[in-house]
Amino acid sequence: MRVLHATSELYPFAKTGGLADVLAALPPAQVVDARVDARIVLPGYRTIMDGLSDARAILGDPDLYQGGPARLLSAKLVGVAVRVYVLDAPGLYLRGGGPYGDGHGRDYADNHLRFGALAWAAARLARGADPVWQPDVLHAHDWQSGLAPAYLALDGAGPRPATVQTIHNIQYPGSFPPEVLASLGLPASCFHMHGVEFYGALSFLKAGLYYADHITTVSPQYAREITSEPHGGGFGGLLADRADRLTGILNGIDTRIWDPRSDQRLPARYDARDLSGKAVCRQQLRARFQLAKMAPGPIVGVISRLIPQKGLDLLLEAAPRLFELGGQLVLLGSGDPAIEAGYRELVHRYPGQVGVEIGYDEELAHLLQAGADVIAVPSLTEPCGLTQMYALRYGSLPLVRRTGGLADTVVDATEATMEAGHANGFVFDAPTVEALAEALARAATLFKDRARWRRVQQIGMQAEHGWGKAAQQYADLYRRLRPEA
Ligand code: ADP
Repeated sequence: MRVLHATSELYPFAKTGGLADVLAALPPAQVVDARVDARIVLPGYRTIMDGLSDARAILGDPDLYQGGPARLLSAKLVGVAVRVYVLDAPGLYLRGGGPYGDGHGRDYADNHLRFGALAWAAARLARGADPVWQPDVLHAHDWQSGLAPAYLALDGAGPRPATVQTIHNIQYPGSFPPEVLASLGLPASCFHMHGVEFYGALSFLKAGLYYADHITTVSPQYAREITSEPHGGGFGGLLADRADRLTGILNGIDTRIWDPRSDQRLPARYDARDLSGKAVCRQQLRARFQLAKMAPGPIVGVISRLIPQKGLDLLLEAAPRLFELGGQLVLLGSGDPAIEAGYRELVHRYPGQVGVEIGYDEELAHLLQAGADVIAVPSLTEPCGLTQMYALRYGSLPLVRRTGGLADTVVDATEATMEAGHANGFVFDAPTVEALAEALARAATLFKDRARWRRVQQIGMQAEHGWGKAAQQYADLYRRLRPEA
């Protein structure tokens, strides 16, 4: 079974969110755990081009998607176990900022061409552009690759692989004005409700959701939620219609990168039996953020993109209640300027009780996971969420809202669940300051009971969070779609 993943992000080369982490971990797990021969096709950003070796050109184009000369390379990428196909198109991908924008909040004006070209490359490979490796399944990820299933379905020529479209986050439809249709080589007839049209725009994600043979998303609960509004992001009707072709497969975490027993980014390592290293990390976290030493309550950590979806305005309002209970707050994140400003201001109001770092910092994310007692993820919606799974692994109890993958991974600590040995964190329901504050209060109460706290920590730390299970579930799906492969 050969599977080609099409993606715009790959950790550590290009990352804005969980998508990059998934693509770094799933393909190698598929090879090892599920006997799937996986490869990846992705844009030739500078970070990618710098890491290539053994490159071989398999296609060329003098002016690809208005971006000038381009070549599709088959190559090895440093640190990546599977072989990659890279679209070397300097006019499209060699830019100063991030994968999608200039780094100052402005998206590149030609993103439709940049990711249309990615989908073109994926579709060409699907049709056998590499004579030595033709996929049985083309697996497209998020809107950036969404045109690939459409290209394959609309071009009726000959046999093609099965197509899978995965939704990592439905909030990003990848919408562009209808006028760009022709520049993407799409026929006018597909600009239709039964096609790529989405509220008057051309949506790359709609293309994937409409044309792919199967749709997956990254948790079973999110798969249920997105078949109706408001969680469906406008696609609820289409997904309800296609519910028999929609599967939720929970992400794993990359335990090569996220494991407190071997994490070289930490000042000390630890495991479920001996947590003394975690105390060292906690101390260092406190020092780094200049938190007061005497606070008796839990340190609550947040590592997040600062966007409304993450519910962090609720936490901003609930934070003073946490401080009254002797707790402290540490936040690492960047994004929405208003949310950033809100947290900066909190530091001024509660010096010594709050630490805030605005920015993106992998190293610090690890220290925060290890040094915190609680990791808060109060999201309004959350497809899967990785941070709460890292928290479980690092013995920091996740405190989450019951939505999407958060609901699938965190079991609220009640008398009954603690008795049964299932409790691994704290869950609240209503998206309100009250409900969040109440969960914080429960965390602060349990924190005082060291023996019980420790048992809940150990349940999370000892659970299996790797990619093996997901790799198997994807393989089962591929085999249903292509039983002969
Ligand atoms: P999303 O994909 O919506 O951003 P996830 O929880 O699925 O949410 O994945 C977030 C990933 O990004 C995690 O790996 C998390 O550690 C990382 N991350 C988010 N913000 C930051 C930051 N400011 N610095 C470092 N890592 C971050």
